[in-house]
Amino acid sequence: MKVTFFSAKPYDKDFFGRLNETFGFDFIFYETHLGPHIVNAVEESDAVCAFVNDKLTAEVLRILADRGVKYIAMRCAGFNNIDLDAARQYGLRVCRVPAYSPEAVAEHALAMMLTLNRKTHKAYNRVREQNFSLNGLMGFNLHGKVIGIVGTGNIGKAFARIMRGFGCELLAYDLYEDDALKTAGVKYVPLSQLFNRADVISLHCPLTPDTNHLINRETLKLMKPRVMIINTSRGGLIDTAAVLEGLRSKHIGYLGIDVYEQEEKLFFRDLSQTILDDDAIQLLMSFPNVLVTGHQAFFTAEALEEIASTTLTNLSRLSQGLEPENPAALLV
Ligand code: NAD
Repeated sequence: MKVTFFSAKPYDKDFFGRLNETFGFDFIFYETHLGPHIVNAVEESDAVCAFVNDKLTAEVLRILADRGVKYIAMRCAGFNNIDLDAARQYGLRVCRVPAYSPEAVAEHALAMMLTLNRKTHKAYNRVREQNFSLNGLMGFNLHGKVIGIVGTGNIGKAFARIMRGFGCELLAYDLYEDDALKTAGVKYVPLSQLFNRADVISLHCPLTPDTNHLINRETLKLMKPRVMIINTSRGGLIDTAAVLEGLRSKHIGYLGIDVYEQEEKLFFRDLSQTILDDDAIQLLMSFPNVLVTGHQAFFTAEALEEIASTTLTNLSRLSQGLEPENPAALLV
């Protein structure tokens, strides 16, 4: 089996390379992301392995199928960037890694909350300059606060478990209610009520036509003044222009984003010597109450190990005419 990787970073080569000792596949790694500009470079590959910002449009999939590719292995959980109808039409089998390490993402959401709240990033710089003043560093107790969780799948559940340990009141919204979470004290409410009551809103639903710009001018109006919004899911869940207005008017008290609507032009690259052609992210990063991380919530050793292992097992099984072990891993 020959597998062509896109958006491949040194850590991908490292983890996939090590696990491949048991699979014996041939790998080709491209650092660039997959799109119309590079798709013709794929030659004699059985599979393409893609990541969150690769563009698997109908046109790209058609060319891959024409070039003999049979399998698309997404080495991520989300699949908003692949046209599944087109994959079906071109006879491609598509798999993903549904739950490689929900705790990795949930723990990063918590890290963002605590950083924004307790301002440890500012304290770190301050004390290094021998400034031990506390002015401007005041936070609030999470204990007793209302946390609104949108999407209670694998990551939302892990996040709920963590926040329960902090003694928070947990509200949730999902298309499907989870009985175990309800037994554990999570209360499912309509989305408008969650927006209305939550001190912290954390987004853990996928990006779909229904959830696109879930946070917008209208939904922001429902939220408490000084609300904290955390997005470790997908950038498109937030209307960036509306959130910038909310930050300027001080309605939003804190914003933590690990994902960004236009992230494919920015994230996973060192652009430190470049003038960014994106005014919105520049503006966002200039607010003292905004924390941006570059899609790193998944980035733990345990998660990378699991991603590589599940992706290669999925491909191995598909090539033998078997389905992935976890039915949720098979998209087409
Ligand atoms: P999951 O499929 O286990 O859970 C998603 C949940 O969202 C499900 O319970 C589903 O019913 C619910 N949902 C679907 N549509 C909804 C809607 N309109 N309103 C409310 N809820 C809705 O997925 P997961 O593993 O928990 O991952 C969630 C998302 O996190 C992924 O889709 C992905 O975009 C993102 N993610 C980000 C990173 C990162 O590094 N930042 C890593 C992994 C996943």
